[in-house]
Amino acid sequence: MNSVDPDQAHSLHRDFEEKFERVKRLYFSRDPRHWPCFADAGFRDVSSFRALHLAPHLRLGAYSDGESLARKLQAETDIPEQSRPPDGCPNSMLRFAAAMSKDWENPSSAENVITMPCDPAIYGAMLGTLANANLVYEEYAGMASELEKVVVRQIANLAGYDPDRASGFFTQGGTFCNLYGYLAGIRKSLPEAKHHGMGYTHDYRIINSQGGHYSNITNLSLLGVDIRKRAIRIKISNNNNIDLQDLERQLRACFDVGSVVPAIMLTMGTTDTFAVDPVKAVHDLRNRLCLQYGIDVKPHIHVDSAIGWTMLFFLGYDFDENPLQINGATLAGLRRNVEMFRELRYADSFTVDFQKWGYAPYTSSLVMFADRSDLKFLENDPENFSYFEDELQGHSHLQATIECSRGAAGVFAAYAALNFLGIEGYQVVLAHCLQNADYFRHRLRQLGFAKVIAPENAGPSVGFRLYNPDGVSDAEAEFAVEQHRQPDKEYLERLSANSAFHRQVFLDRGKVGLYTNWVSFIAHTSYDETGRCHRLPGEKAVFLNPATTRRQIDEFIHHILGPNPGQHLHGAGPAA
Ligand SMILES: *Cc1c(COP(=O)(O)O)cnc(C)c1O
Repeated sequence: MNSVDPDQAHSLHRDFEEKFERVKRLYFSRDPRHWPCFADAGFRDVSSFRALHLAPHLRLGAYSDGESLARKLQAETDIPEQSRPPDGCPNSMLRFAAAMSKDWENPSSAENVITMPCDPAIYGAMLGTLANANLVYEEYAGMASELEKVVVRQIANLAGYDPDRASGFFTQGGTFCNLYGYLAGIRKSLPEAKHHGMGYTHDYRIINSQGGHYSNITNLSLLGVDIRKRAIRIKISNNNNIDLQDLERQLRACFDVGSVVPAIMLTMGTTDTFAVDPVKAVHDLRNRLCLQYGIDVKPHIHVDSAIGWTMLFFLGYDFDENPLQINGATLAGLRRNVEMFRELRYADSFTVDFQKWGYAPYTSSLVMFADRSDLKFLENDPENFSYFEDELQGHSHLQATIECSRGAAGVFAAYAALNFLGIEGYQVVLAHCLQNADYFRHRLRQLGFAKVIAPENAGPSVGFRLYNPDGVSDAEAEFAVEQHRQPDKEYLERLSANSAFHRQVFLDRGKVGLYTNWVSFIAHTSYDETGRCHRLPGEKAVFLNPATTRRQIDEFIHHILGPNPGQHLHGAGPAA
């Protein structure tokens, strides 16, 4: 890579583009010729309005009677007295609300880890909705529970879990998957918690990292954990992944005083900067310390891979041959990430959001367990389940789940997406997104006044800080100053002036080219001797959108350059 021209490394290969165009046409186009369900009159109306890809502030005005429909909708309070005979169309409000919901199909949509679902997943979800299987209990699910088991086996295989030993089930989003991870650890290590709550018999600490998603904390609150005193948030590196030395120090501190550690929550692919925690190193550390301290019930390691799991599609990719012709810049980052995701199989359980980078509609999330016997610990007492036949109870996850009813539309959606796209289809669309993210990083870096946060992480999320080009000529140097935490007032003033400048630029710009968003914690300073750091805000764009092309990226870059682009541009212009 070192000797390669950076523009060359980012160029798009014709073979790749052909493969991608095919995937986009067949699976992301709402085209009734491929998916006849989209020929329905209501679906067609809604899709064609959304396909205008209007800027957010223009959408309402462009919808016929939009302003008045919005006012009516906001004022609607009563259920109609009379029934309304079907006429083959949605009523005007249904159509309006669907058309005017956020248009993820817009090529500029890059806000957060949210996507348009793929056509087969929408179709699958419709079939699941039609069948209305309830996964709570075999009798209410029928064959749908076999379909759930298929997806669990497929993901087990993909991740390198033993499919005969592994288990898993679909639940309400990644947040719930993480909740199950914590709960499994708690029920294993603190068996009294099932009846007495937390901390009844044993002193304990639960461990996560400062780089984790907010559900890592909100779930603890839900579980009745004293977050200030019983949750230990491990420090993170400059790239936002877990600091192994701090983890070892904290684990030892717990074990030295006989405090139980039920769970360690890691993240592979953080939301804002795609930091990847090294799960094998944590697994080995845990095992070594448990041996040394004579701890029988080891801390349960759950990996929040809500977004990151999709890297598993590349575990079998031939990086030397590169059959898809992924460009050099993206191939290098992808290869590094894939090596780390090879370690996901060392997790005791992990989170899979099909509803994010898996291109399934909401809700479709799966929590996977390496060892099905861990589910035994989740089981509640049988006397709670009086209206289910005793002998059928063991056949489903009935007693182990937090939910009663579990909808199956997410299972049908996931199965359809996996089986129509296949591993190669996913590789193509994921690589397209990563090529966009890498190209955006490249263009930002050329500006000179933009600092790309944790570029080594090479994920779909691109976080950055923009500095005032009149005062800052070298963004890397300025960021280095910011990162080196100082006690003096001038330092703090410099941080807040920089952040305020970027915030103002962000607000003044509005949504142009790429619809980015603001994040109050995109990077952090070094830690001081009391272990504290400052959080630095910034802007982010997330490239999960198959519709995004370089046009939107170039437009965004062109716009932040302002009226006199030559003034700031350091490198070359757009890559070929
Ligand atoms: C989105 C996200 C979650 C939460 O998942 P939901 O499906 O939105 O509940 C958890 N962890 C990470 C890393 C995420 O990006």
